[in-house]
Amino acid sequence: MEILLVITVIIALLAAFFLRRTGRAEQAHAGIPLDARVIYSDTGAWARLEKPLFSRRYRLTGKPDYFVADETGATIPVEVKPNRTASQPRYSDTMQLMAYGILVEEKFGVRPTYGLLKYRDEVFRIEFTDALRAELFAILQDMRRARRAQNVARSHDDAVKCKYCGYREACAERLE
Ligand code: SF4
Repeated sequence: MEILLVITVIIALLAAFFLRRTGRAEQAHAGIPLDARVIYSDTGAWARLEKPLFSRRYRLTGKPDYFVADETGATIPVEVKPNRTASQPRYSDTMQLMAYGILVEEKFGVRPTYGLLKYRDEVFRIEFTDALRAELFAILQDMRRARRAQNVARSHDDAVKCKYCGYREACAERLE
């Protein structure tokens, strides 16, 4: 049985893949909601999820921090990064939320049109556009290809990333 890609792993790798794929960066930006709206959310109305969601079709599993039902009754995934401050959502966070959107669709049979990303001071509404969805699938495909490869070259020049990487002791390409 093929090993599932776990979203916690995806989170760690997405940023690196994004940097490696600079040639596709502009295309990627077409799917990134840089105009994501900051909205108000009542965290008290959010419900926690007990078990991870799972998609056999996409070989994906993960657990959004919360669900919230919007005014139409649709189930909306919510990801919370309580220590993060930024005026725009990070790409890796956006793609993580998009993955949750796909898992919600698989679980409930209805595609959510957006998700919520909560940083320390802001809540962003991330529209799940077709472009964003396609971008996520392209990244997942790249990651699966990399998993089959014997060697995967370092895709960044970020010594801080290596410093806190769980694989640094075994990695020949780590930056000091
Ligand atoms: S230590 Fe190796 S695997 Fe970890 S971030 Fe650095 S290059 Fe990547």
